[in-house]
Amino acid sequence: MTLTKFEQSGFILETSKGFRVAIDIATMTPLEKLENVSKVDLMVISHIHKDHFSPEHIAKLNPNVLILPEECDAVLHPNSLGLPVAASIAYGDTHPEVSAHSILSQEGFVYETGDVKISFFHVDHGPNISAPVDNYGFLIEADGKKIYFAGDMFYPSGMDVSGLEVDHVLIPVGTVYTFGPEEAFSFAKQFKAIKNLVPMHDRGNVEMTNAFAEMARKDFNVVVM
Ligand SMILES: [Zn+2]
Ligand SMILES: [Zn+2]
Repeated sequence: MTLTKFEQSGFILETSKGFRVAIDIATMTPLEKLENVSKVDLMVISHIHKDHFSPEHIAKLNPNVLILPEECDAVLHPNSLGLPVAASIAYGDTHPEVSAHSILSQEGFVYETGDVKISFFHVDHGPNISAPVDNYGFLIEADGKKIYFAGDMFYPSGMDVSGLEVDHVLIPVGTVYTFGPEEAFSFAKQFKAIKNLVPMHDRGNVEMTNAFAEMARKDFNVVVM
């Protein structure tokens, strides 16, 4: 299994059999950067914020299956909600360039295909966002490895991690809308065991990543990707 990081909270995971899963690659990644990136089989979107959800980026990555919150799917397929046309327009344009089959995320939903299993859980985005957002984290199991993606977590939330032994924990360190370095470090200590702790979502502030790495290296193998 390989894990490739993109800007903010974007990743592509590829299993040993070549099954490719994209996570949250969105507006902070220049579209041109995806020109030479091969199509993915599956894409998962944590929530509707632009740094995680971008129809243009989804179209470029061209997944067969897209798992996303209902409010994101409503942007892609406004008429699927059966809303009046005026309300559909308020949700924005349809995006016919996205041809993926949509599956809606839910708390406790588990998606399994071939050698990949993904469990979905709600994540608390905290008080500094403007509207309630349906926001998810994921536990991905592939090639006998476990990858925990915390999403935009502000307050410790989601599945109980105290018994969890994981290979990679992908954790936000950006402050304001998510954990900052200190909160991320303290949440990581709740896990039973973490092989690699990977900071993400520094909102382009590399100093934030460095501050986290310096602090967390005392207890963890921090991998800055
Ligand atoms: Zn967000
Ligand atoms: Zn975000």
